[in-house]
Amino acid sequence: MERLIIIGSGPAGLTAAIYAARANLAPVVFAGYQYGGQLMFTTEVENFPGFPNGVLGPELMEHFRTQAERFGSKIENVDVTKVDFSQRPFRVWAGDDLYEADSVIVATGASARWLGIPGEEQLRGRGVSTCATCDGAFFKERHIVVVGGGDSAMEEALFLTRFGSKITVIHRRDSLRASKIMADRALAHPKIEFIWNTAVVGAKGEFHLQALELENLVTHETREFAADALFIAIGHDPNTAIFDGQLTLDNARYIVSDDGVHTNIPGVFVAGDVNDIRYKQAITAAGMGCKASLEAERYLEELDAERVAGGLETASA
Ligand SMILES: Cc1cc2nc3c(=O)[nH]c(=O)nc-3n(C[C@H](O)[C@H](O)[C@H](O)COP(=O)(O)OP(=O)(O)OC[C@H]3O[C@@H](n4cnc5c(N)ncnc54)[C@H](O)[C@@H]3O)c2cc1C
Repeated sequence: MERLIIIGSGPAGLTAAIYAARANLAPVVFAGYQYGGQLMFTTEVENFPGFPNGVLGPELMEHFRTQAERFGSKIENVDVTKVDFSQRPFRVWAGDDLYEADSVIVATGASARWLGIPGEEQLRGRGVSTCATCDGAFFKERHIVVVGGGDSAMEEALFLTRFGSKITVIHRRDSLRASKIMADRALAHPKIEFIWNTAVVGAKGEFHLQALELENLVTHETREFAADALFIAIGHDPNTAIFDGQLTLDNARYIVSDDGVHTNIPGVFVAGDVNDIRYKQAITAAGMGCKASLEAERYLEELDAERVAGGLETASA
């Protein structure tokens, strides 16, 4: 029987673990087989406070983990496969084992959608990215390509005009899905050009992205297109499959929370990208992990007080 289980080991889960461990809750963290979260797949992180010269994503996540373990977090590199929040204590299955806990923090993140094209994986962090806020500044006065046609693609393209000499938006259709206001802004921007009815089908470059392979979806002709950076802005998939029917999810399958911490089940809290449609940054995820942990502490104190009161009533009856 655990006091607190944390599901996920990105910035949100491990920050929650640091706070909970320092509060003597000895949290169990199910880190997932891909422990460390999304930053394990990037190179330089320049916007995480405390690292004036930047830090490599995997190195940063090792620091998080060491700090969480130092205060007594028990971290298991396994995936949670099933949860039951309909009864107390809450039940969580990880690997072959069943665990029970008074409270749970869900910090399972959201996976950016990739194109799944040749060259993409090798060039991740070397010109290919899914996060303009994170990596845009690396491409000053460069030619940047953005893939996508929705609001987030237009937002990324407009943001990237601060850095790139030219931004080319490549979209599969002949019109944008984005809201009119975002589409109009992007279409009118002098630095942004559009290529319509076209898919990016390959990424090329030895050490860094140098060119893309494009396919015209009407004529099926292919051509090489020189580019220094490729930002893929085709959405995220929150990692919420195991919470189906357990927690309230919105239409895009993010966990719903009125205040960004509490879920529809008292005692189950949420933190990080799995609840964050808008910011999706390591520092915001870490901040949410801190809040979730402090709320879990408060919840457990109240639970203990209720148990003591319940025990006293039983004794006096
Ligand atoms: C390529 C790239 C570069 C980025 N660069 C930056 C940057 O420079 N600066 C910045 O601030 N942000 C950056 N980000 C964004 C940042 O990584 C995320 O905002 C942040 O990692 C979100 O943290 P999180 O803890 O909410 O989730 P995640 O980091 O996604 O971690 C979620 C964790 O939950 C685990 N998990 C999922 N399902 C289960 C399960 N069933 N059981 C157990 N564990 C599970 C996963 O394995 C993972 O470890 C970048 C993102 C990407 C993809």
